[in-house]
Amino acid sequence: MAHVLDLLLPQRCLGCGHPGAQVCVVCLACLPRIEPPMCTRCGAPTAWPVARCSECAGRRLAFASARAAVAYDDRVRRIVAGWKERGLRGIAARAAEIVAEAVPRPAAWLVTFVPPDDDRTLRRGHHPPERLARELAAVWELPVGRTLERRRASRRQQGLPLAERRRNVRGAFRTSGRVPSAVCLVDDVYTSGSTVAEAASALRAAGARKVLVVTFARAVR
Ligand SMILES: [Zn+2]
Ligand SMILES: [Zn+2]
Repeated sequence: MAHVLDLLLPQRCLGCGHPGAQVCVVCLACLPRIEPPMCTRCGAPTAWPVARCSECAGRRLAFASARAAVAYDDRVRRIVAGWKERGLRGIAARAAEIVAEAVPRPAAWLVTFVPPDDDRTLRRGHHPPERLARELAAVWELPVGRTLERRRASRRQQGLPLAERRRNVRGAFRTSGRVPSAVCLVDDVYTSGSTVAEAASALRAAGARKVLVVTFARAVR
């Protein structure tokens, strides 16, 4: 249904409302790219290259590294919200192009993604992290597969403080199928890192030695 509406309604840019493309050239050019220097571990922009930063120091993170293409500012927030809510088909390919420009091809055997909370995905009819993972896998010429499932529905992470976010997702994922030693884990937005850390820990428990997280956007404090 979402796709039919996309065809019938005049299109507007999700970022700025300008009539035309789903994301206009101005918005594409203005997306706040995350560039080095950054934290090697969690990908937060820093004043100089560091192995750990104030955001990730002292946290047990099951992933080896996290990288994102753009900072999660208001414009990016609107684009991601439109992508999630309206299931716009063109966005995943554009997002993947932007990620591929910013993030080097990960040294992984498989690209996988944070699975949907089923109710929400049914309502939306599609799942942005899976779309992004499939587009990136094509660009990087890597196999893509669903290895993670939700063990139970978790409350939305949005609006929860950090400690709550960790508790909310603890034990939320299980794996199915074969998990290779190095895996690239894709999600749409990195906020506190709690969700990808929990998903990475399920992949590690299933045999992955290295989990490399890649997201389209990242909250920057
Ligand atoms: Zn725009
Ligand atoms: Zn860090």
